[in-house]
Amino acid sequence: MATASAAISSLRFSGGPPRRPHRWRCGPVRCSVTGKPAVAMGSDASPSSPGGGGPGEPVGTLRADCVVVGAGISGLCIAQALATRHAGGGAGSATEVLVTEARDRVGGNITTVERDGYLWEEGPNSFQPSDPVLTMAVDSGLKDDLVLGDPNAPRFVLWEGKLRPVPSKPTDLPFFDLMSIGGKLRAGFGAIGIRPPPPGHEESVEDFVRRNLGDEVFERLIEPFCSGVYAGDPAKLSMKAAFGRVWRLEQNGGSIIGGTFKAIQERSKSGKPPRDPRLPKPKGQTVGSFRKGLAMLPNAISSRYFCCVLSLSWFLWTIYSSSLFPGRAPPGRVLLLNYIGGATNTGIVSKSESDLVESVDRDLRKMLINTDAVEPIVHGVRVWPQAIPQFLIGHLDHLETAKNALQKGGFEGLFLGGNYVAGVALGRCVEGAYESASEVANFLAKYAYT
Ligand SMILES: Cc1cc2nc3c(=O)[nH]c(=O)nc-3n(C[C@H](O)[C@H](O)[C@H](O)COP(=O)(O)OP(=O)(O)OC[C@H]3O[C@@H](n4cnc5c(N)ncnc54)[C@H](O)[C@@H]3O)c2cc1C
Repeated sequence: MATASAAISSLRFSGGPPRRPHRWRCGPVRCSVTGKPAVAMGSDASPSSPGGGGPGEPVGTLRADCVVVGAGISGLCIAQALATRHAGGGAGSATEVLVTEARDRVGGNITTVERDGYLWEEGPNSFQPSDPVLTMAVDSGLKDDLVLGDPNAPRFVLWEGKLRPVPSKPTDLPFFDLMSIGGKLRAGFGAIGIRPPPPGHEESVEDFVRRNLGDEVFERLIEPFCSGVYAGDPAKLSMKAAFGRVWRLEQNGGSIIGGTFKAIQERSKSGKPPRDPRLPKPKGQTVGSFRKGLAMLPNAISSRYFCCVLSLSWFLWTIYSSSLFPGRAPPGRVLLLNYIGGATNTGIVSKSESDLVESVDRDLRKMLINTDAVEPIVHGVRVWPQAIPQFLIGHLDHLETAKNALQKGGFEGLFLGGNYVAGVALGRCVEGAYESASEVANFLAKYAYT
């Protein structure tokens, strides 16, 4: 399962060297006015769409320093990063950026719905408020619209018929009842390196976690978490590709704890760069969104420039959305967001909408709400036949092969980007967008006339 995502190309349709900013207009494609990225939407919106060029331009000619294919979060953030970090007219600046989108809306997977006083997400629900994401939000004029979840909101895993809290800080570790004492000891010894060595071939998430931290950590913590993030099968997902940061800890430090200490040492040696004073400081481990949902970010970028973990056989996870962020439900009402299905449970795509609502409602009554609770007042269903790219074993090799093939095929200036390259979390998409924008800017600098 994989989503087609953003591919970024930096090319010139009219051929020849980059030119200075220039006004132009053309048929169905809305084009940029000097220095502003433009978005072209709808199935007829392709760079080759016929239209009138600017003065002296042949009809049908469309010129851009960079074309971003796909106005999901990755594509839009690349355009935004080019505009905020690589503008200015010097070598490497992309003065004309065109974003194309096959659908009639921007945002890709991000799908916020507002109806009858409720506001919910039918795609991603939240992001980790890392500095790159906060920078993107602030640069997009959304500083005052940021909402951060309560860092102390409890999360639970349903284990042996009981909802059990997940430890949220190191001091919880000895006391939480999700794991046995033997399981905790196994995890502790494994984390400091008393466990079998790496096998010498690419490991799945399941193999890595069972080997390093033991069966209980895998079955009771990582499997539910993995289902939540990737909706995937941890026996097939590649540890290196899907959770590269944790994988590198063992590689660099000989064990997970060893690698953590090494990383802390290296960070303190190299010193922290000064933090952008405009960025808000999130308190503790939390998640973020915007006052009117995640769609505010893609909408802001495009309009500015263009025109609790639970596990049942059925459930992936349930979020008390109205407790996490303000303004999601009318006073006195509760909004529950339920994600079901996943790579190991694909049968949901053949179910009708009413079947899905009925079975989710049945499961909720079994584990989370009173059996005689009122019927849902408002509900929304969104089925994603292709939801989240699966970073299976060999994924990074495939990406490398694709990148090499582009180079060998003479496609210099065509870059791959999006969640299947950067990582699926929204935060990784934004970080990847900054990286892609730098690649494009370096490419443009190489070929710019001085
Ligand atoms: C149900 C669900 C829940 C999720 N929950 C979370 C969460 O809570 N937190 C989190 O961090 N992440 C979550 N994710 C993952 C995250 O939403 C995605 O990884 C991220 O939105 C991907 O962004 P993207 O821009 O790379 O790709 P996409 O959002 O897929 O955007 C790609 C865009 O490109 C367009 N496109 C494709 N081909 C073409 C073409 N040839 N020409 C023009 N346009 C084209 C598509 O129409 C689309 O708009 C979730 C994903 C899903 C599906």
